[in-house]
Amino acid sequence: MTHPTERITYFVEVVLPLHLPEYYTYRVPFEYNDLVAVGQRVIVQFGQKRLYSALVRKVHTEVPAYKTKYILSILDYEPIVGETQFKFWEWMAGYYMCYVGDIMAVALPSAFRLASESTIAIHPEFSGEYGNLTKSELNVLEALMNKSVLSISEISNITGYQKIFPLLKTMIEKKIIVMEEEIKQRYTPKKEKYLSLSDKYKDSEAETKELFDTLEKKSSTQKQLTVLLAFFRLSEFGKNAIAKKQLTQNTDLSSSAINTLIRNGVLVEEERTESRLIDGDATASVDDIELSEQQQNALSICLHPYSKNVTLLHGVTSSGKTEVYIKLIDKVVKEGKQVLFLLPEIALTAQVINRLRKYFGNKVGVYHSRFSTNERAEVWNKTIMGKDGGYQILLGARSAVFLPFQNLGLVVVDEEHDNSYKQYEPAPRYNGRDSAIYLAHLFGAKTILGSATPSLECYYNAQTEKYSLATMDKRYGGLMMPEILCVDMKEAARTKEVQLHYSKFLLDHIQEALENKEQVILFQNRRGFSLRLECDACHWIPECKHCDVSLVYHKQTNSLRCHYCGYSIPIPNECPACHSTGIKMKGFGTEKIEEDLQIFFPDAKIARMDLDSTTQKKKYLEILTDFEDRNIDILVGTQMITKGLDFDNVSVVGILSADNMISFPDFRSFERSFQQMTQVSGRAGRHGRRGKVIIQTYNPYHQAIRDVIDNNYLSMYKSQINERRVFRYPPFYKLIRITVKHKDERIVNEASSLLAHDLRQVFGNRVLGPEYPSVSRIKNSYLKNILVRFEKSEAIAQGKKIIINISNNIINQKEYSKVTIIHDVDPQ
Ligand code: ADP
Ligand code: ZN
Ligand code: ZN
Repeated sequence: MTHPTERITYFVEVVLPLHLPEYYTYRVPFEYNDLVAVGQRVIVQFGQKRLYSALVRKVHTEVPAYKTKYILSILDYEPIVGETQFKFWEWMAGYYMCYVGDIMAVALPSAFRLASESTIAIHPEFSGEYGNLTKSELNVLEALMNKSVLSISEISNITGYQKIFPLLKTMIEKKIIVMEEEIKQRYTPKKEKYLSLSDKYKDSEAETKELFDTLEKKSSTQKQLTVLLAFFRLSEFGKNAIAKKQLTQNTDLSSSAINTLIRNGVLVEEERTESRLIDGDATASVDDIELSEQQQNALSICLHPYSKNVTLLHGVTSSGKTEVYIKLIDKVVKEGKQVLFLLPEIALTAQVINRLRKYFGNKVGVYHSRFSTNERAEVWNKTIMGKDGGYQILLGARSAVFLPFQNLGLVVVDEEHDNSYKQYEPAPRYNGRDSAIYLAHLFGAKTILGSATPSLECYYNAQTEKYSLATMDKRYGGLMMPEILCVDMKEAARTKEVQLHYSKFLLDHIQEALENKEQVILFQNRRGFSLRLECDACHWIPECKHCDVSLVYHKQTNSLRCHYCGYSIPIPNECPACHSTGIKMKGFGTEKIEEDLQIFFPDAKIARMDLDSTTQKKKYLEILTDFEDRNIDILVGTQMITKGLDFDNVSVVGILSADNMISFPDFRSFERSFQQMTQVSGRAGRHGRRGKVIIQTYNPYHQAIRDVIDNNYLSMYKSQINERRVFRYPPFYKLIRITVKHKDERIVNEASSLLAHDLRQVFGNRVLGPEYPSVSRIKNSYLKNILVRFEKSEAIAQGKKIIINISNNIINQKEYSKVTIIHDVDPQ
């Protein structure tokens, strides 16, 4: 007798993690009828040979007009992605001109994305009973015995079976074989050894006292005594279990003494599966935070029943935005909902994590692109669990928008203006801030955007009442805004008060700070940061072989390196063009600054923080901690040090050259310079007396610099918003940048001209270009850009579809089939 439901034939539409424009339909074998659900992963065959794990988007019974393949197996018992996530992906694909499959490929931790090159192994629990196997099954098994892991195509070759998939499918079902990824993806939670006091001593103080007495008496047990004392201290007198490594890592403690205590039954060792993420209980209550009047005002605006869905919190540096976030988060968490807290760069989270953990303890999860894929999978699962033993507050950089929130109640985007919210490569080229706002909208949740220097786009939205606006113009605790002083470098040069690149004025202030045991931050914009070589005689400059850029000097490796592709050469002894030996260093990088300063201030401890010195997370944290602990006197850095760090002993901040920021040819350069200078100024004078900022510039009367000095965001905003209107830039116009890429320069020129021509047929003078970008060749590919700008009122969604069609028409021409066309919506 068959069960009646078994006769229903179900089909699923699935998302494949591939650059494909549509969903694909597969048939569900009857035995999976009760198991299959939206948001689960299934194994499907796609193309001739490949297997993929795909996500079920829809289950239905409409029989398609074409013959469908069966899904081969189901990987999840519970959905790992919800309906809202799919809606979010679908929106993102439409908005950022890519496919849902592109998004799946970046959204899921790779532990969930079983690769297509599926390899098969013998099932670890295979019983070894060969008697029941068919001949073909035995053949497959034999192949696997010779070479424990094989790809499906290899199996097909060895056995000579053409139709290998149905066979493997049954073998998988019979638990004879298993997909290797399947083994890998069932990630093993990390085990950690724990020590606790044995019951004997836990229950009796007398026993404990006697134990101490005996250990104390003999000299041979002194080491055990030391261990036990350490254990009692760490475990709150034996109340808690502690990680064994807390003892073993301490070199003062003898590891054999630790083991003796375990052997003698004093300490009990057990293995626990432990979350890899540092957990801890909350140590303070949010109710104990007393907000200042302006914080209270800001909070009321965010919570006001008539507030918009998005509130922009414009609060000067150190105004206490985080405390306002914490109050909002607390409210949402108490309602049982979840919070997404975005930061521009995950490296910056350390300080924020600590502040949030203090109040919310284990409810805080951190999602990190540098975590291992298993750790990411773990955070993913704990996001699904939400308030039931999982995470309610998820902190991360832009990719955290993809976490499978169940009931999102609030989104916080800190340092909203930061351009690292935008992903450029690969697709989806999304903006984490804007996507998070849409995600919040899907959940009916509110968003709060915080910044001391809001982006023009967001401030414009606040001015036009699309967003609510809360302003905090004073620092918390009556702290004064830093005093900002400007050094006219032309004048300083005239009066001979410049050494190398440093004005006497700046050096004197650094000296004074050091004498007062205060710290100094020196900022050098990344654009002025690189050191290049140049031949004094013929002005030859070493350039990258593959990219249209000059090579940058790296002291550590004593080589010249390309920042785009990594190509590197040793320092040449003579100029290859004219054979002169007069090759000189040009430019003014952080390494050079570090070196120079050591000459001016031989006793100061100087460190450097930029992309090169901080590629490892650990290194970054080390520098940060060292600076916080005042083991570093002067910190030299690029953009990285401008971002939301909170130090309490910095009295002088120097901006070494303001000019290379301002002069950059980009419609945002004025806004950016203001933001960077204001942000780095904000590092001065926290928790203490008033800090000083010293800006070195050749243009002391430039408006951007005047606005920074006056701390006048509104003045910057007004002048810039006017320019944007006049010159037709965001927020008044939407930009789409189209990049055409190919190894052959001629083809790039042709294809891009043709594309621009076709686009003009539809969009007229909304199309600009094609033009070479400032770096017109990267990794041997030539690039050309076309810019399309739409009035806000137009049907932009329709326009995007037309752009995609026109682009596809180009690529569909045989001679341009290898051309890459990239669409970047809202480029930065
Ligand atoms: P912002 O993020 O706006 O630059 P922070 O949130 O870092 O400013 O606040 C600056 C400092 O003031 C922090 O050390 C913070 O702990 C402290 N602070 C702000 N608000 C309060 C408050 N209501 N009670 C106690 N300390 C506060
Ligand atoms: Zn030369
Ligand atoms: Zn290169």
